[in-house]
Amino acid sequence: MKRLLLLFVAAGGAAVWWRRRGPSSQTDGSMDAFGASGVTLPDAPPKLGGEVAQELLDILACPDDKEPVKREGNYLVCARCHRHYPIRDGIPVMLIDEALTAEQAAAQPA
Ligand SMILES: [Zn+2]
Repeated sequence: MKRLLLLFVAAGGAAVWWRRRGPSSQTDGSMDAFGASGVTLPDAPPKLGGEVAQELLDILACPDDKEPVKREGNYLVCARCHRHYPIRDGIPVMLIDEALTAEQAAAQPA
C-alpha cells in the first residue's frame, strides 16, 4: 500500500511539472519566473556579427597562444595563429573548437 501511495505522489508531481511547463506563449504571470531565468532555447542559431565593446576586444586573447585578437568583419582574428573566432549576436566565441581558419571564414556567407 505504501508503495502505491509513493507511486501516486510521483505521478502527481510529474503532472504538476508538466502543467507548469505549459505552452511557451502563456503569459499569465505564472510563467514569469521561468521566462526571466532565460532557459528557453532560441529557435534559430545566433547569427554572426553584432556589436562588441572595445573594452572587451582589448582584453580578449587567443585561447591557444594568448595573442591579442583583432576584429575582422564578423570574426576576431588571432595575430599569431590566424584562427578566426566567430562573433555571434555580439558575443565573441573564444573557443578553439569553434574557430575557423582564414580559408573557412572567407568561405562563410557574410
Ligand atoms: Zn592564436
